Amino acid sequence: MTDPKHILIVGAGFTGAVVARQLAEAGHRVLVIDERNHVAGNCHTERDPETGVMVHVYGPHIFHTGDDGVWRFINDHCTMMPYRHQVRAVVRGQVYSMPINLHTINQFLGTNLSPAEAQARITDLAESTITDPQSFEEQALKFVGRDIYEGFFRGYTRKQWGVDPTRLPAAILKRLPLRFTYDDNYFAHPYQGIPKEGYTAAVDSILRHPGIELRTNVSAEDTDTASFDHTVYTGPLDRYFQHRLGRLSYRTLRFERDVRPAPHQGTAVLNYCDEDVPYTRITEHMYFAPWEVQSFEKSVLYTEYSAAAGPDDIPYYPVRLIDDKALLTQYVSLAQNTPKVTFAGRLGSYAYLDMDVSIRRAMDVADMLKTSFDRNQPPKPFVHDI
Ligand SMILES: Cc1cc2nc3c(=O)[nH]c(=O)nc-3n(C[C@H](O)[C@H](O)[C@H](O)COP(=O)(O)OP(=O)(O)OC[C@H]3O[C@@H](n4cnc5c(N)ncnc54)[C@H](O)[C@@H]3O)c2cc1C
Repeated sequence: MTDPKHILIVGAGFTGAVVARQLAEAGHRVLVIDERNHVAGNCHTERDPETGVMVHVYGPHIFHTGDDGVWRFINDHCTMMPYRHQVRAVVRGQVYSMPINLHTINQFLGTNLSPAEAQARITDLAESTITDPQSFEEQALKFVGRDIYEGFFRGYTRKQWGVDPTRLPAAILKRLPLRFTYDDNYFAHPYQGIPKEGYTAAVDSILRHPGIELRTNVSAEDTDTASFDHTVYTGPLDRYFQHRLGRLSYRTLRFERDVRPAPHQGTAVLNYCDEDVPYTRITEHMYFAPWEVQSFEKSVLYTEYSAAAGPDDIPYYPVRLIDDKALLTQYVSLAQNTPKVTFAGRLGSYAYLDMDVSIRRAMDVADMLKTSFDRNQPPKPFVHDI
C-alpha cells in the first residue's frame, strides 16, 4: 500500500461497518460516526428490558444469502444460529401459509389438489386476456386471477405502499413466488440464520479493529469533513445535499409495542392482508431466537403500521416511483460532481438492499477505494448502478 488515508464513514450500519473494516485491514485510518446512540443501523437488536427477549428494534431481520463470501464474513463476526423463516397471512379471518404454496391454494379454494392439478387450476383462474401488463394489479391478475389477488395482495399492497396497485409499475411483481409444493420456507437461499447475540453484537465485532474509531451520537452535519482524505456517506442521498432539489419519498414504519404472556401469537410474523385492518403485520420477537424461546414468561410483540415518511420520520423503504426516479437522477448528477465522497448503502443509493447485498456492495466499495488510493486516482462517487 502507498500512503495510508484518513477516511470518514458516515453511518455505522452494515454498509459503513464493512467498508470501515476492509479499509482498516488495508492499513487506512477510519473514523465511523453515527447520529444514533447505537451501531447496526436499522438491523439493531436489543434485549427488551421487561421480557428479556432480543427485539429487532426497526423491524424483523432474517439473514439469508447464497453468497459464500458474505456468509463466511458474517460467520467470522458472530455465531449464526439456524433459523428458517415462516410467515402466515390472515385473510378475511382465516390464517394461510405464505408465500403462496400448495397448502395456501388448497385452503383458499377448499380443495385437495395435487401439484399438477393446482397448477392447472391457477392457469384457469389467471386472466389470460392480459398479455402486456402495465401495472402491479394487471401483473398479479395475469399470474393468479382476481380472487387470490384481492385476498392476498390488493389490501396489503395499498397499506404497505399507500398507493393503489393500479398505480404501481408491473415490474415490481416480475415474478410471483407461487409454489406448487407444501414448502413454506419464506426464503429460498441456502444460507439462513440469525446471530446468537443479535445483529448489533455482530456489527460491534466488525467495527472492533485498532484502525477504526467509532463515535455515536454524532451527525455528518456536525463533522468537519474537509479534514479527511475521503468520505463514505451511507446516509440519505438527498439529505447530503440539504434536500435542495426536493425530497426522495420513503415509507416509514411505526411499531406499537405490546407485552403478553408467552407464547401469544405462536409464530414470528403474521401478515394482515385485509385493507380494513390498519396494520400490515404483527411480529412476536421471541420466535427469532428458537434456541431460547422456551425461557420466556412474557413475550413482546410489535404491531407494524406503514405510512409516508415526513421530514422527521425514519426513512425505511424507498418508494422509487416515476417522480422519485427523475429526482434521483438529478441527485446522482450532483453526487457525480462532488469530489472526495462515495455514496453507499441503502440510503446512499436510495434502494432496498437486503443485508447480504449491503455487505457484498460494501466490500465492492472498499475494493474500489483501496485500488483508487493505491493508484492515486480519485475514487468513484458510486460503485453500483442506482
Ligand atoms: C423493515 C425492514 C425489514 C428488513 N428485513 C430484512 C431481512 O429480513 N433480511 C435482510 O437481509 N434485510 C432486511 N432489511 C434490509 C436491511 O435493513 C438493510 O440491508 C440494512 O439496514 C442496510 O444497511 P445500511 O448500513 O446500508 O443502512 P442502515 O442500516 O440504514 O444504516 C445507516 C446508518 O447511517 C446513519 N446515518 C444516516 N444519516 C446520517 C448522518 N447524516 N449523520 C450520521 N449518521 C447518519 C443512520 O443513523 C444509520 O445508523 C430490512 C429492511 C427494513 C426496512
